[in-house]
Amino acid sequence: MSRRLCVWDHPSFGAHDPGPGHPERGARHDAARRALSGLDVDWLIAPRGDGDLAATVHDRRFVDDVLASEGRSVAFDPDTHTSPDTVDAALRAIGAAAAAADLLDRGVPSFVLARPPGHHATRDRAMGFCVFNHAAVAAERLARAGHRVVVFDPDAHHGNGTQDIFWERGDVLYASMHRFPFYPGTGAASERGAGPGLGATCNAPLRAGAGDAAYQAAFERIILPAVRAFAPDRVVISAGFDALDGDPLGGMALTAPALAAMVRAFAERWPTMAVLEGGYDLSRITEGVAATAAALMAAPRADPEA
Ligand SMILES: [Zn+2]
Repeated sequence: MSRRLCVWDHPSFGAHDPGPGHPERGARHDAARRALSGLDVDWLIAPRGDGDLAATVHDRRFVDDVLASEGRSVAFDPDTHTSPDTVDAALRAIGAAAAAADLLDRGVPSFVLARPPGHHATRDRAMGFCVFNHAAVAAERLARAGHRVVVFDPDAHHGNGTQDIFWERGDVLYASMHRFPFYPGTGAASERGAGPGLGATCNAPLRAGAGDAAYQAAFERIILPAVRAFAPDRVVISAGFDALDGDPLGGMALTAPALAAMVRAFAERWPTMAVLEGGYDLSRITEGVAATAAALMAAPRADPEA
């Protein structure tokens, strides 16, 4: 049994340029598109979100600073540079994430092929190649529609931004598997949320070089029990591919089939969407996007009311 996948895309996702020699480069977008070009998916144009949409998860002042930089090149931190197209790309990333969330509300899965990535963007700060947090926008949208949402983040880096945004929230579970200690420094197992969000942050730190067996063990022992206890009804995958073997930044040894098996574990139980995060080896991005898309499509349709 299979279901159709909506793919959200826009030329600005390729045009965003953080500068010569930067690993988060436009060719990543081509590599992701290539993965889906032969598949029977519905291609949709990523709509441009606005400051109000960004402000559902970010502070207004930070949002206004980003919007004021449109058409220029600025540096938000030493790693996070923009080009004249970046604000349009970041607004389309959140616009597509919100549109995909609206489809997921009805049980329809999507993959958002966005650049720049988003999971390091905190409530009030762009960092780590990320400007606006598109996974957080999708999760917030679903939570406001009354859903209990898991954000599963298998990117090699901890998604400190997503954790920050939902730290005190009991209706969004942030669940991450990542290299630790590593950039950005957060993601210890002891970080579990606070207030009404206590227990709704689940971190599975892994040693450098971790491969399929270590990932599978941590997924079964740490991630799945937390997810089952949380009892979600919608899932957003922060789909980073820098944990795949051979990535120049990640330093992990996960394979695409093992990553896809984790995505499938979500998609076969709950309606699931994905947004692109990191991944810096072009052939691994193509492999990872193809495997993730197949997992989203091959899963039996979950009952949207379940
Ligand atoms: Zn990463």
